[in-house]
Amino acid sequence: MKEERRDVVVVGAGPAGSVTAKKAAEQGLDVLLIERNQEIGVPVRCAEGVSKEIERFVAPDKRWICAEVNGANIYAPDGTKVVLSGAKMEEVGYVLERRIFDKFLAHEAARAGAEIRVKTEACGIIEDDGYTRGIYARCMGEDRRIHAQVVVGADGVESRVGRWAGIKTRLRPSDISVCAEFLMCDIELNKGYSEFFLGSTIAPKGYAWVFPKGEDCANVGLGIGGDVSEESHRAIDYLKAFVHDRFPEGKTMAEMYGVVPLSGPISESVADGLILVGDAARHVNPLTGGGIIYALQAGAIAGDVVAKAVHEGDVSKKRLMEYETRWRREFGKRLETGLKAKKFLFNLSDEDLNTLAHSLRGVEIKELSTWALLMELIQRNPKLLLGLAKVLL
Ligand SMILES: Cc1cc2nc3c(=O)[nH]c(=O)nc-3n(C[C@H](O)[C@H](O)[C@H](O)COP(=O)(O)OP(=O)(O)OC[C@H]3O[C@@H](n4cnc5c(N)ncnc54)[C@H](O)[C@@H]3O)c2cc1C
Repeated sequence: MKEERRDVVVVGAGPAGSVTAKKAAEQGLDVLLIERNQEIGVPVRCAEGVSKEIERFVAPDKRWICAEVNGANIYAPDGTKVVLSGAKMEEVGYVLERRIFDKFLAHEAARAGAEIRVKTEACGIIEDDGYTRGIYARCMGEDRRIHAQVVVGADGVESRVGRWAGIKTRLRPSDISVCAEFLMCDIELNKGYSEFFLGSTIAPKGYAWVFPKGEDCANVGLGIGGDVSEESHRAIDYLKAFVHDRFPEGKTMAEMYGVVPLSGPISESVADGLILVGDAARHVNPLTGGGIIYALQAGAIAGDVVAKAVHEGDVSKKRLMEYETRWRREFGKRLETGLKAKKFLFNLSDEDLNTLAHSLRGVEIKELSTWALLMELIQRNPKLLLGLAKVLL
């Protein structure tokens, strides 16, 4: 078996892996970023919507921005529309072209000095004395042993790296959203707005989305709770019904399926010689399913901490805990709040959702964050949302 030695090996070239690789390489480490697929960013498994907060982590670039959105329309099960718009809102932002965006981030990692290898899959970790010391990889049909001081698991929702190192990453059906999406063209859109559709007949324990991708195209998809997904109630069946109803004349250019982890973050994202980042660490807002920005944020912290740890010659769990402390400080609260809100809101009946939407009728919701919107709803529906108020306040 071929052997090689690196300071860091990053498993998975999604946003989390590429940013981690870039940051670590910028600080002088010898970094190898591996991706099992033959092309970075493909296949896309994402609705591609992000808030403008992304600008804190990467300068916007026309090459990977498909459309700008100025707000969101949310439709209650009975069709009542709630419009959210305003410069500070999370719903204002961009719809990306992930196949280009992910390559752009990997390119940045390469420019910083990281080596990138596609068609290379991690199949196990090398362990010694309780430490992760590298990975076993299959690289273009050839087996390799890649020794590294730190292994970064950025291997997405299906992550195995953490499990190999004994970290509990198991997801129960109720912890996931099972999604199906069509890239559709030739459809009539509310330009400049992302749209969300709620209701048990549309997407039980989830929602449907329409994210504009420029001109007459959009990502049209939905996610349903993993605990309600079964052979006769699949996400694709709900999506076909939704599309038949809303866009009967639309043309489907692409079809994709995916799973979003909505469990909230894992309890520990580090071990001796190992760090988990992005979806692998369940860095996804359980209420919205958004994880791109958290992947960038966690990747930046991970790269920084790994670089310091390697330079100091201490890659113990204790040293790497700085990463865990920092991501929890930066966005851990948002994920925990999202989890509490999800648990409550996903269990409301259609009638309750209609009542909430009606309570906002005639109100111009501008300059409200998602949090402020929840507070407004609690104020207007104190009885119905008593349970939510209890967990959030
Ligand atoms: C249907 C759907 C819609 C979504 N919509 C949105 C949205 O609108 N906005 C948003 O913010 N988020 C959205 N998300 C979530 C978002 O896509 C993820 O949070 C984000 O991609 C996480 O980035 P990551 O780098 O952690 O993982 P990923 O982007 O999943 O990257 C992981 C990479 O690791 C590779 N890999 C896995 N195992 C191995 C291995 N053993 N060896 C080598 N490589 C490996 C994979 O091939 C993959 O390229 C959506 C997700 C889904 C499924």
